Amino acid sequence: MAVPKRKTSKARRDKRRASSYRLNKATVVECPQCHEPKQPHRVCRSCGYYKNREVIAVE
Ligand SMILES: [Zn+2]
Repeated sequence: MAVPKRKTSKARRDKRRASSYRLNKATVVECPQCHEPKQPHRVCRSCGYYKNREVIAVE
């Protein structure tokens, strides 16, 4: 079985783990009700609609 010759340094290990962190921007979709950008699978923040009906009251 292959065995690592050297211990992975903290810098190298952390650099590897940081690669995916915050690289993926937040996904945004258009609200079918008010056409504002919103997060998918979330109630729309501007009109309060989800699944074609109002679920929260928005001022
Ligand atoms: Zn909306």
